[in-house]
Amino acid sequence: MATGFFWDEKCFWHAGGNYAFTLPIGGHVQPLAAGGLPENPETKRRLKNLMDVTGLSEDLDLRTAPQASTEDLLRVHPESYLTEFKTLSDSGGGELGRRTPFAAGGYEIAALSAGLAVAAVDAVMTGDLQNAYALSRPPGHHCLPDFPNGFCLLANIAIAIEAARAKGMAKRVVVLDWDVHHGNGTEAIYYDRDDVLTLSLHQEGNYPLDTGAVADRGRGPGLGYNVNLPLPAGTGHTGYLHAMDTVVLPQIATFEPDLIVVACGFDAGATDPLARMLATAETFRQMTLRIRAAAEDLCDGRLVLVHEGGYSEVYVPFCGHATLEALSGSDISAPDPLAEALTIRQPGPRFDAFIKAEIDHLARQL
Ligand SMILES: [Zn+2]
Repeated sequence: MATGFFWDEKCFWHAGGNYAFTLPIGGHVQPLAAGGLPENPETKRRLKNLMDVTGLSEDLDLRTAPQASTEDLLRVHPESYLTEFKTLSDSGGGELGRRTPFAAGGYEIAALSAGLAVAAVDAVMTGDLQNAYALSRPPGHHCLPDFPNGFCLLANIAIAIEAARAKGMAKRVVVLDWDVHHGNGTEAIYYDRDDVLTLSLHQEGNYPLDTGAVADRGRGPGLGYNVNLPLPAGTGHTGYLHAMDTVVLPQIATFEPDLIVVACGFDAGATDPLARMLATAETFRQMTLRIRAAAEDLCDGRLVLVHEGGYSEVYVPFCGHATLEALSGSDISAPDPLAEALTIRQPGPRFDAFIKAEIDHLARQL
């Protein structure tokens, strides 16, 4: 069976407001000559372009999807939020939360972004595809039911999971979030539930500053079903794989899911402007190979990756290409032009030992 790749040019037309990097323009903050928020279309469009140039696109089953239906959205978001969002979108756009502006038509584009995730999960659960990648934009993992933040307007992954559950599919789901920022939205939505295990690997002390602690383990029936690993700044290839091998994969195996979803950000990449980690394209390849093997062992290979952050326009395409090579098993490659430079810049044995000890220390608190 094939690997699906869900994308739509219209998702690249989502536009933010008058920001320079993460700062609103005004006062002493001068507008940029080009670009605004770091969450801009280029990182995503250039990934698709690279796949077209290498030929990897031809090894995948490329599809678009309809917008997520209002019924789908209402399983996660209150009607009051959707109405407020749609009204502002229809009247030209604006800002409803924290650093999450949108232009006219932003509501429909966000619903399409969620729709790509819904279709990807549906196709994998019904056996139409082996696994899938949804190039969703705007991203979703920070979005709370009634409060958009961190560039996220709708909770794409939760919407997709709940749509599958409404059809009687996906009874036990793992959401692994390897975006460098804490998946606070996904955590909040599932904090009280024991049927969705949420795991987040993120940089300690990054956005959002007030969530993502290792002590946050869930509540009520959900206690024990939320796992946060706040990693030290500078964690590189070896540290990420140590976290996967010693914490993430054993937790997933114990849970016995029937679907694994990855909140797939590439902002742990070494050149990302919004983080200070040292992951490489090879790190993402190895993490994908591991989670794919886990899915094959535990749930007949049912695995969906949904795009989240990643703000290095040059490097995200190579990290994404390596991820999709690993997901699909394709032998069409895009050699990492930064591999040599970033290998030299890895923490090295002395700091890797420190980072591993930190991860082991966190694991003992779970
Ligand atoms: Zn992120």
